[in-house]
Amino acid sequence: MTEDSGLKENIVCPFCGCLCDDIGISVEGNKITENKNGCSISQARFLNHHDDRLPMDSPLKDLVKRAAEIIVKSKRLLIYGLSSTENDAHREAYKIAEEVGGVVDNTSSVCHGPTILGSQESGEPIAALAETRHRADLIIYWGSNPQFAHPRHMSRYTRAPGLYIKDGKKDRQIWVVDVRKTISAGVADRFIKITSGSDLEVISALRAIARGRILEVDSVGGLSVGELTELVEAMKSAKYGVLFFGLGLTQSKGRHRNIDAAIRLIQDMNHFTKWGMMPMRGHYNVAGANKTSTWQTGYPYAVDYARGYPRYQPGEYTAVDMLVRGEPDVVLNIAADPAAHFPRGAVKHLASVPVINLDPKRNMTSLLAKVNIQTAIAGIECDGAATRMDGLPLYLKKVVDPPEGILPDRDVLRMIYEEVRRLKK
Ligand code: SF4
Repeated sequence: MTEDSGLKENIVCPFCGCLCDDIGISVEGNKITENKNGCSISQARFLNHHDDRLPMDSPLKDLVKRAAEIIVKSKRLLIYGLSSTENDAHREAYKIAEEVGGVVDNTSSVCHGPTILGSQESGEPIAALAETRHRADLIIYWGSNPQFAHPRHMSRYTRAPGLYIKDGKKDRQIWVVDVRKTISAGVADRFIKITSGSDLEVISALRAIARGRILEVDSVGGLSVGELTELVEAMKSAKYGVLFFGLGLTQSKGRHRNIDAAIRLIQDMNHFTKWGMMPMRGHYNVAGANKTSTWQTGYPYAVDYARGYPRYQPGEYTAVDMLVRGEPDVVLNIAADPAAHFPRGAVKHLASVPVINLDPKRNMTSLLAKVNIQTAIAGIECDGAATRMDGLPLYLKKVVDPPEGILPDRDVLRMIYEEVRRLKK
């Protein structure tokens, strides 16, 4: 039970990869009445946490039993999601995958999976958000629209004053590189428009110029050689630069090659000055899903236990690819909505197999699921740990009780795991 009513301070907001840890939540009689400091997304999610909950057609223990029976009969179980729940729930999901020789993948396979592949090839010159605020005098957002997807990213970290950046507006430049003028580009100091699908060419040209090569063309990706040279000189003369990149870079033509090139550009810049880079992670704990998967299996996503030990192969054990090939015969979906976000071929197969769906709320996937189990919202109705976009683990607090009889994902998954083991004996 939660202790008492009143204002609870320093609450971590569990809705995007910023994991803002300065939220004040007022509670009266197990009801959230106010959210201080949260952005519009945070306000809506905290104040409406009780709305639109996932209906369950049977008592929890019967649903757990039904889920376990389906899993035990499966030949090719796919476990998917995990990025909008806390780390302990991840551990229980990996245990189920290992027990029945299934595949476990998280939502990074459809967002920053290419970032991980690029990092594995070229290293990870990562920055920290606090360091960015205190030191960075040049910020570049590439293929990312933080004002829309991470509403407090600019105000907390890149416009806010820091220890060595006394005035976040005068002492720091924010540039946006994108294919169209987004709302973030509108508030940035400079918008650099590139041609759609040309990210790899533009980054490669920047690297060539930084290394003193002469380009034998007039322009690359819509930017003249003069503009490219000016960009390189600005990056070289920054005291501390940070490149934030989003799906506009990871999911455009080139994909993990774009990230590989961007990492090498940042490595090149570190010959002249200090630069770091960071993916703009969307789901609040997608970075945690990659970390816990790596701790437990050795790999960040797309892990197959069919041979009794973990194997890693993006493109083969990634959820969309498996579904498009018609491979899984059961899907255990945790805190994600693949029916709403996957391509049609993947959803077609999803709709043809038994889906066990764990989520606090009703969603598109719940409409086609065979077993729906409502769970508590981590960071509001139960505690846990999550990992911020820069890799910092933060503790999610419980501020109100969940609806009666509703348990955290970790408890439901543990019950399913124990029932699976019992049925297998
Ligand atoms: S920016 Fe993200 S983490 Fe911060 S308050 Fe808004 S939704 Fe929550």
